Amino acid sequence: MQPKLFSEEPPPPQLPPWEIDDLKNRKIAKVVFPAAVTGGRMPTALDYLVPNHLVAQIETGVRVLVPLGKGNRPQIGYCIDIQPWGIAQPNVKLKPVHSLLDERRLLDDKMIELTRWIAHYYLCPIGQVLEAILPAGVRSHAGTRLTTVLYVADNEDGRRQTADGSRKILTPKQLHILDTLQKSPEPLTMQELQRAAKCSAAPINTLKQLGFVHTKTMRRQRAGDCVPGPATQSPAPYQLNADQRRVLSEIVDAIQQRRHETFLLHGVTGSGKTEVYIQAIQEVVKRKKQAIVLVPEISLTPQTVGRFQSRFASVAVLHSHLTDAERHRQWSNIASGDVQVVVGARSAIFAPLPRLGLIVIDEEHENSFKQNSTPRYHAREVARKRAEIEGIPLILGSATPSLEAWASSGDTVAGSLPPSVLLSMPHRVKNLQLPSVEIVDLREEVRLRTTRGAIHRQLHQAIHETLLAKGQIILLLNHRGFSTQIHCPACGEAIKCPHCDVSLTHHKAEEIALCHHCEYQMPAPRECPKCRFVGIRYIGFGTQKLEPEIKSRFPNATVLRMDTDSMQGHGAHERAFSQFRSGEVQILLGTQMIAKGLDFPNVMLVGVINADTALHLPDFRAAERTFHLITQVAGRTGRGERGGRVIVQTFCPDHAAILAAAKHDYNQFVQQELPMRKSLGYPPYCRMIRIVVRSENEAKAREFAELFAERLAAAPCAAQGAFTLLGPAPAPIAKSRDYYRFHIQLRSEQGDALRECVRSVSLALKTPPEIQWIVDVDPVDML
Ligand code: ADP
Ligand code: ZN
Repeated sequence: MQPKLFSEEPPPPQLPPWEIDDLKNRKIAKVVFPAAVTGGRMPTALDYLVPNHLVAQIETGVRVLVPLGKGNRPQIGYCIDIQPWGIAQPNVKLKPVHSLLDERRLLDDKMIELTRWIAHYYLCPIGQVLEAILPAGVRSHAGTRLTTVLYVADNEDGRRQTADGSRKILTPKQLHILDTLQKSPEPLTMQELQRAAKCSAAPINTLKQLGFVHTKTMRRQRAGDCVPGPATQSPAPYQLNADQRRVLSEIVDAIQQRRHETFLLHGVTGSGKTEVYIQAIQEVVKRKKQAIVLVPEISLTPQTVGRFQSRFASVAVLHSHLTDAERHRQWSNIASGDVQVVVGARSAIFAPLPRLGLIVIDEEHENSFKQNSTPRYHAREVARKRAEIEGIPLILGSATPSLEAWASSGDTVAGSLPPSVLLSMPHRVKNLQLPSVEIVDLREEVRLRTTRGAIHRQLHQAIHETLLAKGQIILLLNHRGFSTQIHCPACGEAIKCPHCDVSLTHHKAEEIALCHHCEYQMPAPRECPKCRFVGIRYIGFGTQKLEPEIKSRFPNATVLRMDTDSMQGHGAHERAFSQFRSGEVQILLGTQMIAKGLDFPNVMLVGVINADTALHLPDFRAAERTFHLITQVAGRTGRGERGGRVIVQTFCPDHAAILAAAKHDYNQFVQQELPMRKSLGYPPYCRMIRIVVRSENEAKAREFAELFAERLAAAPCAAQGAFTLLGPAPAPIAKSRDYYRFHIQLRSEQGDALRECVRSVSLALKTPPEIQWIVDVDPVDML
């Protein structure tokens, strides 16, 4: 959507002759464009001449309206640099800037530097990065309207002199009106001035005619889009334990010295990391500075948010479900410097805090910090850069750090990773124990045919006992829907989505077969769509199938299911969590959205229905993901005096990731996983770039991917052995939404050289119209 512009007339392609006078005082604006304008392929900025009447107003970080291309169509661009005309500047034919679209800078110099870095590092046009950094609501001025306001000219003589220079003595009433307007911190509208000066419109109009009062158009926030205010309670901070004190003092040291440093805070679940963040931020706020706290979207629960709101006077929460107008208002509040702490998901790393003093990333290992559309940035890396530019500390917190973060904190820093300082909190607060974890071997259970359902003996027994003890229970099954596969025993195939290379999931409530990838749905088939066999089978367990099983096993317990299907609609999460907190719900079952961040002391049992759901994916991080998920969900219990236990059902009881998670032993996990990554040449021991080519025409997609790979292999940097190239090969999800997908993997120990190589090869490639491709630097999604 195009924002409403100050001026609707198209910009002239050339400067009018009367403006071409003193060129030496002129300035040049470097302008970049949104990807939609340039097709995303124009990486550099264009020069525009700043006309006389704009020289004083233009700043970097504002948007401009400029003529573009042969047709001189008016386009919105971002001014990212302003340079003097220069004595030797030969190009007088530069097109002029037509008008400015923002009254205030949208980005300061540091944010522009960050933008440039992201574009450079993630191999994408600056314009595209700017679109990601500036919320759509800010770009469209959502929630504002153009208003005519009154102001008094700055020169004091205006008091005595009318516009034509003749002297005029003003009446006391007129002087009072002028005083009122001048003392107001903001320009006032006609009505506002009448109210403030207690007068009618007539004397104001006279002052306007006499030239004492001027009018201008400006954007004002519409009233009513109010952001929820902060909570009121303010509990006294805890007495920190020895571990917390030690860790905090290291961080405060860096804050005091205004030193950039990355801290990796490795603290087991329930070790009190959040309390450390809060007290570190208090140090920052004491110094009149501000902080950003990034959490995964799933953790943006009232519980996490409430902990910050109860301890700071002004917290801005950036949820993904804010309206454009709300987001714009938040953004303006933050930019005005009134906010102490911003809590939000990935994109909150771009919050325009003017006095940033600290950045915290909680659950640093979470995949949701990586954006899966262009620009494919990772908030952790952007945070590192922003903290470096600002010269401030960054805290990465996790009970299960990503191997990338971990490897950058040790002595054996791998793959040219930026270094960080490791801080450990190996114990839970208040001497609470980590819960014991029991592993149930599903192979044995299936062989003995002990149950037909998803809950096996040991877990059933444990749920029964926990309910008797009035404890609460969390059950994790990371698959939504009813049956996870619809299988034809005659042709041996799982029924797939006609548009994707993905099996359909049966959703019982609606009796449909649904593609979790593209949302395609069809009536649940009674016969095989391929061979017409009628004995089709519905197999595998999803949360929808688990729910009735639990209810029939434990008819007296209150059960609540949390997954994307049951949590539709605004406030559904909040309601669910408050029902669980109050004890009204005894058994909470759901997908990974229940696995993280919850801190409820009465949870005495956690059950993992199937630990293997992610273990066999064709992804080198499959074991790491499995370890994270089990460790995180296990951490939800044992947070009260009565302790807790965890039961993990698995078909792979000997898998290293599961064994390590059962012992809450991160070190054991990394000691097995890192050497494996090293020997196979995977991150963190190298930098990786993934290229995905797609087309509705399979042969063309393959052909272009092959050409891409050939060019890469033939590039000069390849000859120097800078990288290894894998592929092209069909991507693990070989078809998605009717597009055939091929991918190329590049790995190198020298990330910079690899990026430069991909940059130069891809810029020189001509892309046929039926082909699309993306470059993913440091990919997280390997499917
Ligand atoms: P983590 O973020 O490491 O999982 P939390 O910060 O959620 O841990 O802390 C777990 C629980 O312990 C929370 O309820 C928190 O309020 C409480 N807590 C934190 N620090 C202390 C402390 N020093 N003394 C007592 N309780 C604490
Ligand atoms: Zn599909």
